[in-house]
Amino acid sequence: MNAPQPHWPAIRTPASHFIDNRWERAADGGELPMIDPSDGEPFAAIARGAAADIDHAVRAATAARRGAWGRLAPVERGRALTAISNAILAHAEELALLEARDCGKPLKQARADAAACARYFEFYAGACDKLHGTTLPYPEGYTVLTWREPHGVTGHVIPWNYPLQIFGRSVGGALAAGNACVVKPAEDACLSLLRLAELAGEAGLPPGAINMVTGLGREAGAALVDHPGIAHISFTGSPATGAWVAAAAAQRHCPVTLELGGKSPQIVFADADLEAALPALVNAIVQNAGQTCSAGSRLLVEASRYEEVLARLGERFAALRAGPALADLDCGPLIRATQLTRVEDFLAAARADGITTVARGTVVADAPKGGYYAAPALLRDVPLGHRLACDEVFGPVLAAMPFADEAEAVRLANATDFGLVAGVWTQDGARQLRMARAVESGQVFINNYGAGGGVELPFGGVKHSGYGREKGFEALYGFTTVKTVVLRHG
Ligand code: NAD
Repeated sequence: MNAPQPHWPAIRTPASHFIDNRWERAADGGELPMIDPSDGEPFAAIARGAAADIDHAVRAATAARRGAWGRLAPVERGRALTAISNAILAHAEELALLEARDCGKPLKQARADAAACARYFEFYAGACDKLHGTTLPYPEGYTVLTWREPHGVTGHVIPWNYPLQIFGRSVGGALAAGNACVVKPAEDACLSLLRLAELAGEAGLPPGAINMVTGLGREAGAALVDHPGIAHISFTGSPATGAWVAAAAAQRHCPVTLELGGKSPQIVFADADLEAALPALVNAIVQNAGQTCSAGSRLLVEASRYEEVLARLGERFAALRAGPALADLDCGPLIRATQLTRVEDFLAAARADGITTVARGTVVADAPKGGYYAAPALLRDVPLGHRLACDEVFGPVLAAMPFADEAEAVRLANATDFGLVAGVWTQDGARQLRMARAVESGQVFINNYGAGGGVELPFGGVKHSGYGREKGFEALYGFTTVKTVVLRHG
């Protein structure tokens, strides 16, 4: 007997913000349509937030910090986060379906994202009562302590590519440290997060600890960044918007964590285990249709095995299929029409500049014509200065180039403005460590890429990939500030 086909759940979320554990319409009644990337059709509406809604949310969060949420003992905070994690697991399929529809991602990946989101809350639940201060050696007659204190109310600007995961790592960490949160999810994809905020309230999170205001970046997002009640901003998105956010926040001396994407190299030496490497190389650029900040979008291969690697990868690329989220293929659609145009522009530039396409996957014939589909592409001999070798495509496009030796591999790997993640494939132990040191990157994976999901692993970039760290225990340092207490007691 065939398993029942999954189908889209009814959208229970009203076109409202979620503030103080209540649904609230936009103050001016504004709404925005939600478009299904799989067919290009509107299927729901969200509230179009503006400054008044952000102000309402910040006031609710401030009251929560001073009230029930702020008074919870760390162990009780941990239990509240555990309850959220359990609620996510109990509603994982509903959240995954919302996320798949909103983002267009294949259902199996949306399911993995819902599980990862629960795992972030589980991880940070356990951290709440383990965030220690220090005592410092000082002259006789003094005792010196440091405490890690929450910033107060933190702002979170979430992008559309991984709403559940990025919410989990950002808001999970901020709550664990004792902050109350105001979240501005992306206008393209926020239904899973609205439902999650509701679930958190139902699971017992005090009102005002999580507040969510939907809307456009230049309206609700800008109002959040500008609000004097926001004491820290966590932003994930494009380098251009990130720079704007940092500049605006600097006007009122508000600290910012920026996670801005990458052009991450996969560096394959001649002694690599290709059986292990090839599937990982494909997955790292095809996952979420390449709309992943840590996508392995550049392939650097030692010259002696360049042709072999391209031939074997080409076979894998040719077999890839893109189609609607519910078809659960290798790739879903891209998020929106402008993102598809962006990817097509990169490929047109490659053709115009004589760059060879080794292989392309296919868009399945029954994919709705209005959807935003891009077949995965493998390109070879991409010149170092070409925009395909330097700029983030944010689509399923892998740019390959050969290198002669280790020194050239390092030079090519570091030849972009980005530095988020790198993959190194070699059996040589000494070279593994030399490469890990030489590559300018926030994370380096050796003989794997993104293994285990990385909830526990500090994540963030160098250079234009941003600054500050999320994920793992390290994130908690960013979501707190240190107070030094000097006691003279004689
Ligand atoms: P974006 O940076 O404009 O949007 C990301 C988030 O920032 C959204 O929630 C948006 O509403 C908000 N935002 C936009 N303008 C804002 C402002 N002035 N103030 C405050 N918040 C604001 O990204 P995009 O336009 O959706 O995507 C464009 C490109 O960005 C992509 O092609 C990709 O290269 C990159 N991107 C990277 C990531 C990542 O994970 N690092 C995520 C999304 C997009």
